[in-house]
This record gives sequence, structure tokens and C-alpha cells, in this order.
Amino acid sequence: MSRYYQPEIETAPREKIIEIQNEKIVRQVRHVWDNVPYYRRLMEEKGVTPDDIKTIDDIKKLPFLSKADLRDAYPYGLLGTDLKNCVRIHSTSGTTGKRVVAFYTQHDIDLWEDCTARAIVAAGGTEDDVVQVCYGYGLFTGGSGLHGGSHKVGCLTLPMSSGNTERQIQFMMDLGSTILCCTPSYAAYIGESLAEMGYRPEDNKLKAGIFGAEPWTEEMRRDIEKKLGIKAYDIYGLTETSGPGVSYECEEQAGMHINEDHFYAEIIDPDTGEVLPEGEKGELVFTSLDKEAFPLLRDRTRDICVLSRRPCSCGRTHVRMSKPMGRSDDMLIIRGVNVFPSQIETVLLNEGYTPNYQIVLDRERNNDTFDVYVEVSADQFSDLMSQIQKMEKSLESALRTMLGIGPKVHLVAPKTITRSEGKAVRVIDKRKLHD
Ligand code: ADP
Ligand code: ZN
Repeated sequence: MSRYYQPEIETAPREKIIEIQNEKIVRQVRHVWDNVPYYRRLMEEKGVTPDDIKTIDDIKKLPFLSKADLRDAYPYGLLGTDLKNCVRIHSTSGTTGKRVVAFYTQHDIDLWEDCTARAIVAAGGTEDDVVQVCYGYGLFTGGSGLHGGSHKVGCLTLPMSSGNTERQIQFMMDLGSTILCCTPSYAAYIGESLAEMGYRPEDNKLKAGIFGAEPWTEEMRRDIEKKLGIKAYDIYGLTETSGPGVSYECEEQAGMHINEDHFYAEIIDPDTGEVLPEGEKGELVFTSLDKEAFPLLRDRTRDICVLSRRPCSCGRTHVRMSKPMGRSDDMLIIRGVNVFPSQIETVLLNEGYTPNYQIVLDRERNNDTFDVYVEVSADQFSDLMSQIQKMEKSLESALRTMLGIGPKVHLVAPKTITRSEGKAVRVIDKRKLHD
């Protein structure tokens, strides 16, 4: 039996959700027009006024916000209320080099924490659970987002933040943590460390993990589930929309339900801006329907995914988004071929390697070089010397089949690739140095 944090809204009939969205969008566009001169100007340039927005379908008339707008408007240009009404700021981790500062009123924090509470309950959380939050606390949204939701559900919350893996494990074992919240790459690292300390997966009390903030593959999910002896749930969000909890997985583990009463999602063709029909892959665009301080309309995420309205066995009626396969910024163009790091992760785990890898790109005589460094496990390492070349060749050929382009593979000794405590750095692109 599924449990919900706010059943009346999480399982609301479709018509009810549309009714809520219709009502909220009219109010929100008016709020933005009145309070955010930056966006009002974009609307005026497009010849749209709040009178043109009568239902959620009219959202198509509104202009998009891009990362460039967010940069231009830094820091206060998209603020929707007086600073004196705000109680907090958060900032992006700057993964793609562009920092965004987001503002929150108490109302905004409250609705955000409702979203993460929904995610925790969907992962099986109750007031009997011990939730270990090892997303970073601070400007990053991960720590405080899950922390707030955990309080709302009434779980015993361990505000560990990231890092100090030995202490994480000591608290996990001593206090009997049942739900782990962190990035998937850190979860894999914790799993690896537990095994090294001699613990078996059944020795910990964990039952679930809520992992997000970076792309991860199904293969990575299975690897983490096995190492930790848990069920691993995906959670998605971005600083612009609040933080994690915009969408989250239920027990089906087949796409993340978007909290549609707060966030309206569209998929567009990233080149033309045209809205694509359900089921087509494109760039995800979010409109915050009721945030006060940072009320972004039609914000382009650059994340590429697919939406599905197929009914879900969990009883939730909110639309599901597929795992983003990485942002359009993450896509590498190597000798003219499009490559996503997630494809490489899939091959490595399928071929029995660790998820510890790094991609290095460079340019030699106007040609891209493409190297993948892959760590072998300790047992693979023992017979490595005689085998190394054979294993490298075989992995190169598996990668060539997946990517359509062959990298040079370098198998490296255990523990040589730096572990991540937050968002993993998978790509080192030195080509830019030559431009
Ligand atoms: P930054 O852009 O600095 O990483 P954020 O911390 O706001 O800033 O991160 C938001 C981004 O993280 C999203 O746009 C998305 O690319 C990525 N992300 C978050 N959750 C997930 C997830 N579950 N799967 C894949 N990518 C995710
Ligand atoms: Zn579901």
C-alpha cells in the first residue's frame, strides 16, 4: 500500500490539478508583472500582458528565461518581493560555471519542504525513520531541502552534511540510520567504504536512499542498491525552482513524479523553442506556480528528458519525468560525435567495472583525443598485469559499440580516481585551453 504525505493533492484527479494550475498561473503572472521589472520587459517585448493569460495553456505565450537571463539579472533582478520578506538564499553549485542566487520567503521554504516530505514518504519514510542527510549544507540546496522535509515527516534527522566518510559510517551504524540522502556518487563511495571496513550490506539498518543532484544511470542504481542493501530512489530539482524535490520517485522507480501543484513542466525543442507533445525527448522548462521570492516563469533548465502521463501503480496522478540523461551542457562533442558521460557509465558497470571513472579530452594536431580512465577493483587488480591490455581492448570495443566512437581506455589501480562527496566531476576537457 502506498503512503502519501499530502494524499488529497498527490492523488488528485487530473481535472483538479488543472484547476489548481489555472488558478495559480493567473495569479503568478500578475505577481511577476507587478514585481519583477526584468521579466515584465521580456513580456512587453513579446507583446504579452497578464490579461492574455487566462488558463495554464496560455503559458505558451510567455517568454522563456535562459541561463543568460539569470546571469544578467544577478543578484536581485528576478526577485519578486522586498528583501525584508525573504528569509533565506541558496546558490547553485556552479557545476557549469554560472552561479545563480535564489531567494526564499517563509512561504517558499514551506512549500519546498512539503515537496521533499512527499519524496521521503514516497521512499517509505515515516516518523519511525532515522534520516541521514549527507548532501552538503550551506549555499547548496541539497542539505537543507531534505532536512526540512525530514522534519515535516517527523523523522529523526541527522544533519551530517557531506564529507568525513568515516564519521558518516560510524553514525550510520551507531544510530541505525534507515534512510540515506546524498548524491549517488557519494552513496557509491559510502558503499565502497562500508565494504572496506568489513561490513556486509545486511549489517546496516538502511532501507532506502534518496539520491539526486547529478545524473546517474540505472546500472549505477543497481550497483548502489546491492552495495548498501537498500532501495534507491531518484530525486530531482534545481536551485532556480527551490532545490531537490521538484520531482521524485515512488516505489515504481520508473520516472519521477513532478509536483504539479507547484511546478508546471513543459518539454521544448531546444533549438526552436517549440513545445513538444508528451513522450518526446527535449529540454525541460519549469514555471513556479506559487513561489513568492523567486517566481521564475518558463525557466529553461537545459536538462534533457521525456514526460509521461501513463497512470502509475502508486496512485499518484502527477506527471512523471524520465531521468535526465545529463544536461545539454554535459553533452560532449568529440570528433563530431555526441557523447553523454552517462553512456560511458552504463558500459562500465555492465562490463563489471567500478563507477569510478574520468573522461579526459584534449586536442592534438587539430584532432580531439578521447581518454577514459577507469579504476579496477582490488580483485581485478591482482591478475591485472598479464591481462591489462586485453581488458582495455575489450572495454574500448564495448564503448565504441555504445558511442559510435572509440576512446583510449586506461585501467588504473584502485583508489587512484578522486572520490566525490557531492557532485562528481566526470569530465576534464582540456580542449578549451587551446581555443
Ligand atoms: P548547478 O547547475 O551548479 O549544478 P544546482 O545545484 O541547482 O546547480 O543543480 C541543478 C542541476 O543538477 C539540474 O539542472 C540537473 O542538471 C542536475 N540534477 C539534479 N537532480 C538530478 C537528478 N536526479 N538526475 C540528473 N540530474 C540532476
Ligand atoms: Zn508512482
